[in-house]
Amino acid sequence: MISTPCSAMQSSHTHPAHCGAQRSLLLDLDGVLLDTRPVMQEAWHAVRQHHCVDVQFEQYEQHLGRPFNDIMRRLGVTNAEAVHQTYSEASKAFAHLARPFEGVEEVLHTLVARGWLLAVVTSKPLDRAAPLLAQLGCPFGSVRAAGGPGRGKPAPDPLLLALVDLCADPAQATFVGDMAVDHEAAQRAGVAYVHAAWGYGSPGTPVPPTAHAPHDLLQILGEGRHSGPFLEGSLL
Ligand SMILES: [Mg+2]
Repeated sequence: MISTPCSAMQSSHTHPAHCGAQRSLLLDLDGVLLDTRPVMQEAWHAVRQHHCVDVQFEQYEQHLGRPFNDIMRRLGVTNAEAVHQTYSEASKAFAHLARPFEGVEEVLHTLVARGWLLAVVTSKPLDRAAPLLAQLGCPFGSVRAAGGPGRGKPAPDPLLLALVDLCADPAQATFVGDMAVDHEAAQRAGVAYVHAAWGYGSPGTPVPPTAHAPHDLLQILGEGRHSGPFLEGSLL
């Protein structure tokens, strides 16, 4: 877990009387917060070149959201540790190709201003996730990444650990993801789920509420009613 110094994010640990009362939003990173597909394409290209792996990116991409070693096992790639090293180094070299999705930052800051707690749950290692999240500013109270305790997605562990970090209840939480494994993890954690249709995958079944653009999240989360603009002096 990493914490930010953002003054808007107050840990419930300092306010035990409110523990569990605030609503929280957990978010996947790749395909939800940032468009990292160009980074992943370059990294996978490096893997194919250096390790003679005959697997198209489109095949790799189908398993996004799972821990890297799990994906390698599913693709039949045997030397996963060396492959991961190459993938990780190339990912860092091409990290500048990642971009936040349009509207994401505004939505996050709107939710923080309305009292929501935010956390990131990703299968990306923290050393690669942190610089990308820094592009979005400060609103995250917790980041649960690959290599931490517990099992990776689709297991519920990282979602539940993020909720522990936030001192938040599953019943007050929603997870936004873009892959069927995200949906499964949310179901197993007892957390509501919203599918980000601007991402890289399909939502799985049963069909969950779907946001077609980041701003749709405000409506789905019941925060669309404040969406002005309000005029100075109006009676709204
Ligand atoms: Mg994703």
